[in-house]
Amino acid sequence: MAVLVTGGAGYIGSHMVLALTDAGDDVVVLDNLSTGFEWAVAPAAKLVRGDIGDEDTVRQLIKAHKISSIVHFAGSIVVPDSVSDPLGYYLNNTVKSRALMHAAVKEGVENFIFSSTAAVYGNPRSLPVFESDEPAPISPYGTSKLMTELMLRDSHVAYGLNYIALRYFNVAGADPKGRSGQSTPRATHLIKVAAQTVLGQRQQMEVFGTDYDTPDGTCIRDYIHVSDLIAAHMDALSHLRKGGQSGIFNCGYGKGYSVFEVIKAVERASGKPVNAKIGPRRAGDPAGIVAGAQKVRDILGWQPKYDNLDFIVKSALDWERHLERRNAA
Ligand code: UDP
Repeated sequence: MAVLVTGGAGYIGSHMVLALTDAGDDVVVLDNLSTGFEWAVAPAAKLVRGDIGDEDTVRQLIKAHKISSIVHFAGSIVVPDSVSDPLGYYLNNTVKSRALMHAAVKEGVENFIFSSTAAVYGNPRSLPVFESDEPAPISPYGTSKLMTELMLRDSHVAYGLNYIALRYFNVAGADPKGRSGQSTPRATHLIKVAAQTVLGQRQQMEVFGTDYDTPDGTCIRDYIHVSDLIAAHMDALSHLRKGGQSGIFNCGYGKGYSVFEVIKAVERASGKPVNAKIGPRRAGDPAGIVAGAQKVRDILGWQPKYDNLDFIVKSALDWERHLERRNAA
């Protein structure tokens, strides 16, 4: 009985593969390597290069490796890109997820864990946001993920596919053992961009909007360390394996930080100023989003270990330095 991890060569997926192989699970990774890296896949896992939308390939894999659980990370993740290319996002995140789920149902896979996103909430009316709040995405990215959540809900009822959808808040940081991290050279996420700027890999970064209705005018996000996020996936998997109920869970700490606060944390961790200029708002950005973070603790027994912005930023900086050495070698 193996676990199939889609997108297991990517940032978050590669951390899941590490956690599963560390725990002794047999792991098959399906990744088209469009943004992931072969070297990021733990050696104990089997990497298959392929597309999650290719149902025949997926069905073969499920049969050949007796897959009982799928953890589905593969997808497109850049909110502004989804605004300029919505149909590309609906294809990668919705249509192909439907194909993957169909293969799973046909082959009798029991458990399905899905990477969803806080972007399903859009611009919440009040913070924090709870799983019971009405989703109202404001970007095609959020909508593309919400549609997959709905397909899972309906497939659970119709075919008995057990599922957990985890709504990620802002994932950052790297494996504390230094084995993986956010490695995409063109990454757009704030902590990565600020780390690259302070290390001189980018001349300057931009703060996207200072006129939001927040205390310092910049957007507020709930940053979660990637290893804590993965711990929630491991908890979700054991919950389903024990026959626990399907459902949807926020993954965040329940605390928000502004863009300026994150930049200050990068300055503290590096001891250097970050060259940041003020720019206009970016399409698709909600002003603030913070997780109601109790349900995942109560039901899945999640116990985060790295709930500290300075630690998150330090581990992101350590990983950037590791990549610098790697690229120089
Ligand atoms: N952000 C920024 N400059 C950057 C990247 C991000 O000001 O170079 C802001 C962005 O507008 C948002 C916050 O940082 O308010 C977090 O953005 P990110 O892309 O990291 O994650 P998202 O919340 O979009 O998933």
